[in-house]
Amino acid sequence: MSKFLKKCYSSLEAYVPGEQPRDGEYVKLNTNESPFPPSPSVINAVNSGEVMNLRLYSDPTAKDLKNSIASLYGVGSENVYVANGSDDILNFSFMAFSGDKGEAVFPEISYGFYKVFSELYGIKSEQIPLKEDFSIDYKDYLNKNKFIVIANPNAPTGLTLSLSEIEEILKTNKDNVVLIDEAYVDFGGESAVTLVPKYDNLLVCMTFSKSRCLAGARLGFAIGNSEIIKDLELIKYSTNPYNINRLTLVAGKAAIDDNVYYVDRCKSIMENREYTINELKKLGFFVTDSKANFVFAQCDWIDGETLYKKLKERKILIRHFSTEKIKNFNRITIGTLNQMETFIENVKNIKEEMI
Ligand SMILES: *Cc1c(COP(=O)(O)O)cnc(C)c1O
Repeated sequence: MSKFLKKCYSSLEAYVPGEQPRDGEYVKLNTNESPFPPSPSVINAVNSGEVMNLRLYSDPTAKDLKNSIASLYGVGSENVYVANGSDDILNFSFMAFSGDKGEAVFPEISYGFYKVFSELYGIKSEQIPLKEDFSIDYKDYLNKNKFIVIANPNAPTGLTLSLSEIEEILKTNKDNVVLIDEAYVDFGGESAVTLVPKYDNLLVCMTFSKSRCLAGARLGFAIGNSEIIKDLELIKYSTNPYNINRLTLVAGKAAIDDNVYYVDRCKSIMENREYTINELKKLGFFVTDSKANFVFAQCDWIDGETLYKKLKERKILIRHFSTEKIKNFNRITIGTLNQMETFIENVKNIKEEMI
């Protein structure tokens, strides 16, 4: 670090993204991307005409994209905010909604970025432990009077809260924003978007990175009360008005307009998830009841890190976290059936070797 960096950033522990090796070298089950290409209409939309238009700035209001999202989710376009990945929405939300005292509450085991943003903004974070079974106890989040962030389904467990539980949290925290991070909701969860008309403190955050096969395009969106959306716009126009590039704007709109394609791909992922869970159980694993495009698994014949390493030697990448409470687990992204069969086959071989 240079002598020029502000002191307040000197001890910042940045987010560590999953490995991104060169294409084709690994069966890549480590960063929850989609194994499927974007819809053909996305490929059509990102055409040479749009490339020619790159000399012009992109639409800072993202009007066409917002309209498509609004009509798919049955809300007004004033209820939609779009960003350069949902990480950007989380960033702005921690910046803007942590209150004058700078406080936030989120589960101790969840998306790693919540801690990073808390540190970045000097926010005092209350990190609530999960229950023994790795689920979130919604009662821990009642009457908090602080900015609350919950991933639903949670990462890396894949476990969900019900809408009625989320509603209780919303009802008892009326003076604070409750952000529900629905990065994985399209794989069998229930979206809280239906609660937006009823609760002005709800912000639902979603991404094109997982279910919409556009991780590399960097696109996320949030749905909430128009006043909260205006706050996010205020921050955006105070930092980077052209936050989404032209190619991503047209790709995102095409993706939303071809929803059938994605519903179909999510169905495949859910089927492959059930296959993977069953096979892992047969091999002696404990697997959480994941409603996401990954499974979270542990067994007693090999520790998490060794399994991760042995699979990596076999050119299969999964995600291992060194966090004490979950260090024996691995998070395995659900890919195509073919990829999951390869993964299971290799786990079987490793087990035979070990025993
Ligand atoms: C992947 C992920 C995000 C970030 O998504 P991007 O849109 O790619 O920035 C946010 N929250 C959770 C829980 C995620 O898993």
